[in-house]
Amino acid sequence: MQIFEMLEKNDHEQVVYCSNAESGLRAIIAIHDTTLGPALGGTRMWNYVTSDEALNDVLRLSRGMTYKAAVAGLNLGGGKAVIIGDSRTQKNELLFRTFGKFVDGLAGRYITAEDVGTDVRDMEFVRMETKYVTGISKALGGSGDPSPVTAYGVYVGMKACAKAKWGNDSLRGRKIAVQGAGHVARYLCEHLYSEGAELYITDIVDDKVKAVLETVKAHVVKPDEIYDTDAEIFAPTALGGIINDQTIAKLKCEIIAGGANNQLEDEDKHGKMLLEKGILYAPDYVINAGGLINVSNELEGYRQDRAMKQAEAIYDIVSKVLAISKEQNIPTHTASNKLAEERLQQIGGIRKIYSGNSTFSGRLGELAQK
Ligand code: NAD
Repeated sequence: MQIFEMLEKNDHEQVVYCSNAESGLRAIIAIHDTTLGPALGGTRMWNYVTSDEALNDVLRLSRGMTYKAAVAGLNLGGGKAVIIGDSRTQKNELLFRTFGKFVDGLAGRYITAEDVGTDVRDMEFVRMETKYVTGISKALGGSGDPSPVTAYGVYVGMKACAKAKWGNDSLRGRKIAVQGAGHVARYLCEHLYSEGAELYITDIVDDKVKAVLETVKAHVVKPDEIYDTDAEIFAPTALGGIINDQTIAKLKCEIIAGGANNQLEDEDKHGKMLLEKGILYAPDYVINAGGLINVSNELEGYRQDRAMKQAEAIYDIVSKVLAISKEQNIPTHTASNKLAEERLQQIGGIRKIYSGNSTFSGRLGELAQK
């Protein structure tokens, strides 16, 4: 497919190819939609084999960010960037400062952050060249580790699922299986344990499990046994693609609600299978939006208490998505896509009202003009 056809297929607004011989930078920035505000999304560094592969990935990821921000009620659009290269051997100050220059050239239409293959340190190099970056360390006025806010959002979203499924949102005495014992899972387990849930946990790294067991009591199971437990709720909080033909056949749970991205191996097929099997699935990008809420808070001067408060709204958003899914008998991820599209359409209407020269109104407009 030609590039313009690829952009038109999913309504992408702009794609920027960035190339610089001195630093070796080869990057693509994709801005999917700025109806709601500047496009915010992380920078992924990956050893893509071809530039087409990189383009496909950045188009898919940037579109996902539009939906995530829209459904979370944020005044942000969807964007993403990819840097082609090996994150273990090719990262350096020059590369990220050069990338920062390109981000700055977009004058606030795109705001970056860390993603797979990049970290806080890389973003601090980007910040030397542009203010349009989030995910900076707390010491520099940023938001630091997003996991506590992500985990809190997953926790309240899980409670919303319990309310929809059982008429009561208490998780006391509920059996919950958490896959992965990393950053998000650790905080999630603490919330669940405090509420009196019975936990099953697993990780491929024993030390991660041990660290979680320092603050909570849980049954430890082997990684491939996590699908076979008697848990009523399954919380995938490690990897993507783990809801598939094989695992759906094994699952005995009534609810799937966890922090991992891209949980469904095939969105349409497996979303439908879960609906048919009567398993209530909290769409991943809705329930794990706490991470995005957290970095978006940097734009207003970061405060974790405000980010936590905003993440609490995930309860109502998940409830709304589940209500639409029930009313229309459609998979929950289709319901959340509809909710996002509705907000984009409604708020897009405000665009028709002329309010001066700023591209974005309110606080984000000020940032864009600084
Ligand atoms: P992390 O790397 O700290 O934790 C992931 C854990 O999963 C690791 O301990 C790893 O050993 C374990 N793991 C990997 N494969 C496994 C397997 N097959 N079985 C069991 N455990 C396995 O990552 P994290 O920051 O906690 O993020 C977890 C998930 O949540 C990821 O999918 C991430 O994309 C998503 N997410 C994270 C945030 C955030 O704020 N960190 C925000 C949104 C989404």
